[in-house]
Amino acid sequence: MTNHHIETLCIQAGHTPKSGDPRVVPIYQSTTFKYDTCEDMARLFDLEAAGHFYTRLANPTSDTVAAKVAALEGGVAAILTSSGQAASLFAIFNICTAGDHVVSAGPIYGGTYNLFNVTMKKMGIEFTFVDPDANEDTLSQAFQPNTKVMFAETLSNPLGVVLDIEKFAKAAHDHNVPLIVDNTFPTPVLCRPFEWGADISLHSTTKYMDGHATSVGGVIVDSGNFDWTRYPDKFPGLCQPDESYHGIIYTEKFGQGAYITKAVAQLMRDLGATPSPFNAFLLNMGLETLPLRIQRHSENALAIAKYLETHSKVAWINYCGLPSSKYYELSRKYMPNGSSGVIAFGIKGGREAGIAFMDKLKLGAIVTHVADTRTSFLHPASTTHRQLSDAQLLEAGVSQDLIRLSVGIENVNDILDDLEQALG
Ligand SMILES: *Cc1c(COP(=O)(O)O)cnc(C)c1O
Repeated sequence: MTNHHIETLCIQAGHTPKSGDPRVVPIYQSTTFKYDTCEDMARLFDLEAAGHFYTRLANPTSDTVAAKVAALEGGVAAILTSSGQAASLFAIFNICTAGDHVVSAGPIYGGTYNLFNVTMKKMGIEFTFVDPDANEDTLSQAFQPNTKVMFAETLSNPLGVVLDIEKFAKAAHDHNVPLIVDNTFPTPVLCRPFEWGADISLHSTTKYMDGHATSVGGVIVDSGNFDWTRYPDKFPGLCQPDESYHGIIYTEKFGQGAYITKAVAQLMRDLGATPSPFNAFLLNMGLETLPLRIQRHSENALAIAKYLETHSKVAWINYCGLPSSKYYELSRKYMPNGSSGVIAFGIKGGREAGIAFMDKLKLGAIVTHVADTRTSFLHPASTTHRQLSDAQLLEAGVSQDLIRLSVGIENVNDILDDLEQALG
C-alpha cells in the first residue's frame, strides 16, 4: 500500500477489509470492548497485546483513520486527538516536562501561540520565539541546554509564511532535538515534511482534512526517524522506565513506535482528549476527497490572488503561489503542486474600509473558520482580535486592514464576482 500514490492512499490506506467485511470503515460507536477472560484483558493493560478495551485509549474507527494519516505523511504511527489544540499540546508535552525549553517559529496560529505562551508556560515549559526567515546562526542562538523540541508551521496561519523545513531540521538536529511541524494548511497532499527532515508532524484535521467544516479534530504523526536512544538523558520519558506502566521503557519495547505509544499510554490515559468515533468516520470521508479538493482550493486561490494583486483597492497581498511573493521560491521547493487556499490581503483605507468590504460580501461568509469547501472571510481587527491594542495587533502580525480569505471550491468566477462587487 505504501508504494501507491497519495490519491490512492487517501481512499484506501488504513482499512484492509477481509472477505465479507464492510467495504467502508465502520463506526464503532462503543466505549467498551468485551473479553472472555481476565488474562485476555490483562495483556492489553500491560501493553503486551494490541487491541481495544476503552475508547479513551483506542477505538477501531479512530485507529484505522490514524493509520491512514500515518500513510499519507509517510510516517510509522499516528494518534488522533479531539482537536488541533490537543494535538499541539500532546506533541510537545509527550517530550517536555517542567523546566524544559522549546524553540518555536513566531508566526504561528494564534491558538497555538496562546497555548505555548500562556498555558504551557504555567506548566513550567518555556518558549523562545524565532523569526523563521532568520539565518542558521541566529536560529542556533535560540537553543539552550534544556531545549527539547523545535516547532514551526509549514505554511503559517494566517500570514502564509513558508517554512524552510531543511533549515529548521538542520538547526534542530545540530542541537540533538526533533523538529515538530504543524502541516495543517498544505496537508500531506501538497507538502511532505518528513522528506525534508522534519521528525513529527501534526494537523488540525478541522481544516482541509475534514474539509467540510463538520468536525473539530487533530492528529500527530511520527516519522520514526528521530533516535531518542542517542540522548537518553535528554529524553528520559521515552528512554527510562515508566513507573506507571510497570517500568517499561518505551524506546526498548516499541522501537520506532515509542513516541506514539507513549502519547496514547500516558497522555490519552491521563488527559483524555479523545475524538469520537463518529468524528473519526467523518474525517475519513473528508480524507477520501482531499487531493481533489486541495487542488481546486489551490487553483481558485491562485486565480483570485492574481486578481487581487492588481486591484486598485488592494494595498498588499500575501499568497506564496504568486511569483511576486517573498516566499515563492520556498513554496516551489516544498509545495510544488499548489499553495493551498488561504490568502491574506490588505484593503486600502484600513480598518473602516475592511469592515465596509466585509459587510458587502454576498457569497463569501464571515466566519472564523478557514479551509473548508465554502469561501469565507475574516477581518481579525474588528472581530477575533478586537480586544488587542494597536501595538499588540502589530506584534501578532495583524494589521488593521488585514483580510483573511479562505478560498472555497465553488466556481471561481462566482467568487471573483463577489469580490468585485464588494471591493467596488
Ligand atoms: C486551527 C488550527 C489549529 C488548532 O486546531 P483546532 O482544531 O481548532 O483545535 C492549529 N494549527 C493551525 C495551523 C490551525 O489552523
